[in-house]
Amino acid sequence: MQINLLDQQAEAFSSGAERGARYLKGLPERRVNAETGGLDALASGLPQDGMDVASILDLMETVGGEGTVASAAGRYFGYVIGGALPAASAARALLSAWDQTADVLTGPSVIRMEETAIGWVKELLALPEGTDGAFTTGATMANMTLLVTARDALLARLGHQRGDGLMGAPKLRIVASAEIHATVLKSVRMAGLSTRDIEWVETDDQGRMRIDRLPELDERTLVLAQAGNVCTGAFDPFDALGDRCRAAGAWLHVDGAFGLWARTAPSLKGALAGLDKADSWVVDSHKTLNTPYDSGLALCRHPEEMQASMAIGAAYLPDTVASPANRAPEFSRSARGAETWAALLSLGRKGVADMVERFHGHAVRIKGELTDLGFLVPHEVHFNQVFATLPEDEEASARIADHVQRSGEAWFGQAAWQGKKGFRISVSNWSTGEQEVDRLIAAIAKAKAEILVPA
Ligand SMILES: *Cc1c(COP(=O)(O)O)cnc(C)c1O
Repeated sequence: MQINLLDQQAEAFSSGAERGARYLKGLPERRVNAETGGLDALASGLPQDGMDVASILDLMETVGGEGTVASAAGRYFGYVIGGALPAASAARALLSAWDQTADVLTGPSVIRMEETAIGWVKELLALPEGTDGAFTTGATMANMTLLVTARDALLARLGHQRGDGLMGAPKLRIVASAEIHATVLKSVRMAGLSTRDIEWVETDDQGRMRIDRLPELDERTLVLAQAGNVCTGAFDPFDALGDRCRAAGAWLHVDGAFGLWARTAPSLKGALAGLDKADSWVVDSHKTLNTPYDSGLALCRHPEEMQASMAIGAAYLPDTVASPANRAPEFSRSARGAETWAALLSLGRKGVADMVERFHGHAVRIKGELTDLGFLVPHEVHFNQVFATLPEDEEASARIADHVQRSGEAWFGQAAWQGKKGFRISVSNWSTGEQEVDRLIAAIAKAKAEILVPA
């Protein structure tokens, strides 16, 4: 009797999903840090004969599962990772069965989901009419996509032939916030531009670009601003920046990997006024929106410029079809945008705003609790990020992060900001509630007591 191969796949698929569900149910009880002692079991020699699926999944579930950092749990406060909403991670599972290549001819339904998601994001962030974009693996690639677009557009306006790249091109200027994210500088280099000549703009005591320190701009300038400082959550002054860039013919690009979502929250959006004056924006789905990794969005006011820089233009492809591959770096890729579609559909307009407000509310509470414990939080809580230190012992404050990590109760990392050493807490997981914050604060209080033993 012939074994149905796809039945086998279906069975394997259910088994994987079942183990995933078991993992999620165990998260409230388990430690947040990873158990890495057994990882060698994952690095055996490649066997001559293949292993059966159940044994592979057993190995993954035991050794692999133990070796995960439980960033899916609500007690994870590191970097700005976020978890995965139920609808989004379930969509990922279904998408993996579909295994679609995200293009019009190869995945009509997933492409419709992606296009719809981009429209919803544009609406939620109140971006200008005509804005369009593409899904990428994350903000780094989205920043690169838009920096290449901005570079080509500025050079074309200066009369440089499109398609010549940087060969014989006039020199462009880059003006950037002194606190721009490190990955943006990598994106600058990937776009063939130099980080050495960046004209840095000093920031204020919240980490925002000081508009009074902005140099004279012109039509060969690319201005790099950010929505969401990784230490303070602060937003650059987009309204004034937008006016200055427009008057000079400069291109304003905003890296809003996690922070752009603040624009959906009634109590926060005032700080992002004028965001719509920019030329391009980057936002991640995999951080604040809580879709699974990896998923970012490159959005541009001038989609025709994106298309001009990113189009494939191969003769064998029908050029009447608007393919996302003509607006993004990748050709073959997963339909990751469908997870954003599922996440947004499950939350609705109100659910997105409520989640973002909740992140902010927890961050405000955390600042208060840390202050009561004797920590200094040297900034206002602009969004979901909190940087803290002990002014009398910065080294000890940094070590508190390691101590809490080892306790397994919660997870956040050391950080340095404006010359101070300390730690940084990010509230960006959809499942973080008051109880998780209680456990975080208790773990910090305990770590502080254990580290600062009275002399
Ligand atoms: C995380 C982050 C990035 C990089 O995003 P990836 O999605 O990890 O590529 C860029 N900018 C900011 C502000 C970030 O927080």
